[in-house]
Amino acid sequence: MDLDVRDVIVIGSGPAGYTAAVYAARADLRPLVFTGSVTAGGALMNTTEVENFPGFPGGIMGPELMEGMRAQAERFGADLVADDVTEVALTGEVKTVVDGSGREHRARSVILAMGSGYRKLGLPGEDRLSGHGVSWCATCDGFFFRDRNIMVVGGGDSALEEATFLTRFAAKVTLVHRRGELRASKIMQERALADPKIEFAWNSVVAELHGEDRLTGVTLADTATGERREVEVAGLFVAIGHDPRSELLTGQVDLDDDGYVRVDHPSTRTNLTGVFACGDLVDRHYRQAVTAAGTGCAAALDAERYLAALH
Ligand code: FAD
Repeated sequence: MDLDVRDVIVIGSGPAGYTAAVYAARADLRPLVFTGSVTAGGALMNTTEVENFPGFPGGIMGPELMEGMRAQAERFGADLVADDVTEVALTGEVKTVVDGSGREHRARSVILAMGSGYRKLGLPGEDRLSGHGVSWCATCDGFFFRDRNIMVVGGGDSALEEATFLTRFAAKVTLVHRRGELRASKIMQERALADPKIEFAWNSVVAELHGEDRLTGVTLADTATGERREVEVAGLFVAIGHDPRSELLTGQVDLDDDGYVRVDHPSTRTNLTGVFACGDLVDRHYRQAVTAAGTGCAAALDAERYLAALH
């Protein structure tokens, strides 16, 4: 057997990648994990309190949760590399992965866990206020805005779903949409339009965010007239889409029209043997830390069974 060839390479270090690494390491597969050069730990490194990850009744800070997952993966023998994967060759029995310094690494199986990026508004202060009033996840953060005024930006199904969900907590939800009509499905539109807690700011964009340590309000600009007005809000939920980080995979792994990796549900198998995918790279529906961790676990178990069948 070629000693240069690993059993498993994991690409990504969010809840999906680290969980896959914990399981693969505990199965004695000594996974090599590429954590990414800038954002090791994934999306939760950019948030404050996580209150819905089971096992932490008092909540846990996102970076602390991810540090725990990292330490757990290392404890069982995962080798972590703080670098990006820049190229992959995933067909054939031995897969090749190229890192940021151009070095090649080979493995019999690869677990893809690169996550997805939420689209941002691109406004000054957006990163500073993320987790302090600006959010990309109503399920995660809606609870923090009980009886407050909330704004949701977007016009598709997810924006309306977020807005409708947030009415459970909010005094009022204003949906800001750049056009005069929604893109969302008819049933979602009907539900939102009939909801007395949802107001619509049509033909409008968020032009400025206000607040130093916390969001206090926004400036809305009318897309037709350019007229601007300030609105007080405690929470701004950005729901203008997300992009799975699957550019590396184009032409090799089957992707859907939006770039999410297609897997053979309920397994994590992709169209390529020995290549598994998990977390938000696959999942357009749930996008939670616990679901990402769950599919990360499944990917490691799938890889383990695949490797066992090779021997
Ligand atoms: P990610 O966490 O996105 O991790 C992907 C990893 O892959 C990153 O480390 C990235 O650097 C790495 N990567 C990407 N490309 C490469 C490459 N080419 N080479 C090497 N590495 C690469 N969910 C909850 O359940 N509760 C919450 O309270 C909550 N709050 C959130 C707050 C914010 C601000 C955000 C943005 C999300 C929040 N979420 C929350 C959602 C949750 O973070 C995601 O669902 C989860 O992190 C997805 O995990 P993942 O492992 O699939 O991807």
